[in-house]
Order: sequence, then structure tokens, then C-alpha cells
Amino acid sequence: MVQGEKSIFSKIIAHEISAKIIAETDDLIVIEDIAPKAEIHYLIIPKKEIRDVQSFHQGDFVLAGKMFEMAQQLSRTIPGAEQFRLVINSGEKVGQKVFHLHMHFLAGKMFFKDVV
Ligand code: AMP
Repeated sequence: MVQGEKSIFSKIIAHEISAKIIAETDDLIVIEDIAPKAEIHYLIIPKKEIRDVQSFHQGDFVLAGKMFEMAQQLSRTIPGAEQFRLVINSGEKVGQKVFHLHMHFLAGKMFFKDVV
């Protein structure tokens, strides 16, 4: 992504491109991952443009808490998502491809071997 260019998630947040939206609050949007790695694979995305965990400012930790709160809410409301896995790739070397912070919410059958 070229510096200053909008990420794909910013375009989704702005409703400039479509996505399957699961939930939306003032701070977050939850969408279905386009290439699911589990039966249930959502992305919990802060609307604020934050590149990665390394870029967090003090105030962003409240937002991080809201992302966890959303994960709990999804687990309580989505059938089959009572137990789940959360993943944040923070940096290119560990597999981050979209440089707009997001938390993967994975539940049900996983389509990959355990990494941890
Ligand atoms: P990461 O590797 O952690 O940066 O994850 C990026 C995720 O975004 C991948 O799992 C992609 O499948 C997903 N993704 C990319 N483009 C879209 C899109 N337009 N709608 C939904 N998910 C997407």
C-alpha cells in the first residue's frame, strides 16, 4: 500500500466497497473474511486508522478493550461461536497483509493446522 492511500478496510468502513457486515458500532466494524480460514471467520476492525499494535497511542488501548468486548459479544450471539480464537498479525514478517489493524475472530472448524 502506498503511503497515504486508503486501506481496503477504510474503503469498507466508508461503504465505498461492499463487504458482509456482521456488526457495526461507532468505533468498530465486523465483517466476514473474504477468504475464510475457519467455519466462522470475522474481522473486528477499528474505524480509526491504526496500522498495527506497535502504532498504538495511549488512548488506543480503550479501543483495544472494545475489540475484546466485541469478540465476547459475538461469541454470545453467533451460534457455533461460543468458543473462539483471536489472532492479530502485527507486522509484515508475521503475515499481516492489510495495514489497518484488525483482529481475526475464528470459530467452528479451523481450515488450518495449529500454529500455537
Ligand atoms: P492479515 O493477513 O492479518 O492482514 O489479514 C487480512 C485479512 O483480510 C485476510 O484474512 C483476507 O482474507 C482479508 N481480506 C482482504 N480483503 C478483504 C475484503 N475485501 N473483505 C473481507 N476480507 C478481506
